[in-house]
Amino acid sequence: MGRGATPRADRTFIQDRLPGRGFPPLPFVLPPIRASRLTGRAGLRKGKPVTPTNPVRDRRIVRTRPLMSPAHLRGDAPLTTPGQDAVVAGRGALARILDAEDDRLLIVVGPCSVHDPVAAMEYACRLAEVAATLADELLVVMRVYFEKPRTTFGWKGLINDPDLDGGFHVDQGLHTARALLLNVVGIGLPVGCEFLDPIIPQYLSDAVTWGAIGARTAESQIHRQLASGLSMPVGIKNSTAGDVQVAVDAISAASGGQVFIGITDDGQPAILTTAGNPDCHVVLRGSASGPNYDVASVAGTLDRLSAAGLPRRLVVDASHGNSTKDHVRQLGVVADLAHRIGGGEPGIVGVMLESFLVAGRQELNLGRSSELTYGQSVTDACIGWEDTVAALRLLASAVAARRP
Ligand code: PEP
Ligand code: MN
Repeated sequence: MGRGATPRADRTFIQDRLPGRGFPPLPFVLPPIRASRLTGRAGLRKGKPVTPTNPVRDRRIVRTRPLMSPAHLRGDAPLTTPGQDAVVAGRGALARILDAEDDRLLIVVGPCSVHDPVAAMEYACRLAEVAATLADELLVVMRVYFEKPRTTFGWKGLINDPDLDGGFHVDQGLHTARALLLNVVGIGLPVGCEFLDPIIPQYLSDAVTWGAIGARTAESQIHRQLASGLSMPVGIKNSTAGDVQVAVDAISAASGGQVFIGITDDGQPAILTTAGNPDCHVVLRGSASGPNYDVASVAGTLDRLSAAGLPRRLVVDASHGNSTKDHVRQLGVVADLAHRIGGGEPGIVGVMLESFLVAGRQELNLGRSSELTYGQSVTDACIGWEDTVAALRLLASAVAARRP
């Protein structure tokens, strides 16, 4: 995996930290976050300078760097045949849950963002063990989020800035992201990602079982077109202002075929025609004005879906606006949902949780990643590991309770 890889970041390192044993070998070495020094905007000085000699073109493009094609990255880090089988099986199981042919609950759980692939892999190993014990009731998908939409400025995720130092080694970020996905899939855990950049799915999405379109992009035509062509089920969030109709409209748009501009596997610009995605669904995430996971909000959303001719199903995100960004409140959301699901409330097919090894969040200072607490989120606050296990068990018992 080149730059940044050290022997510390191999399977032994992860395995030694695990209570359990017996995971298959990881196919790719994961670079740990480097103890980098502040490089400030040094990354902005890499690549070929663009001199604005033309009066009308590239006036504000300062540099360009070539990037490998999606086919090239996949050639470097291919999804194995067992990995491919696992993705196909996971997507199929998820589609059956969405279609109410499988009465299990979808759980999308993991950190708000991945900043340290080694900690993410330790989390994945622990989660795989718990998921296996609850597989009769839950389909557990790990949140492995590499792209963070920011309200203004900030670290935009592991792909954009993998060394957490303003170095912007995007090519390395793509490699690391793909290696992590393949390793997680390799231990039998399905993966969920938010897609923000419309080109990135070409590099990674073969390993992804569930996709998300976030609250800030649910109204974007570009993202609706993207969802219409993605190969996996896609959850689409209500807007940050709490508008649920935006998500319902997005699902309608994504369910039909679309024509738009993208790139091919070889990196060529192309006109893409999509078939439409029948497996999109609303994710209720609350808003600044408050939560929207209550009985009335869920029923109102299901009615909006019916009015649009769409299936009556949705996922509830226990975090974000539904926990007013207080991670501890996610547990209250889970307790309420478990009670209602156990009592037979229809329509809720899945629950999302923001969870990591260590509870809470910490501030990321670019260039000072060596100061970070291992296993704690640098974006939204997460519940810790013990609470995560308790939440998953509670949701599993709710599924068991509603069974005839
Ligand atoms: C997230 O999942 O971390 C996220 C940014 O969610 P939302 O789009 O709901 O704000
Ligand atoms: Mn978040």
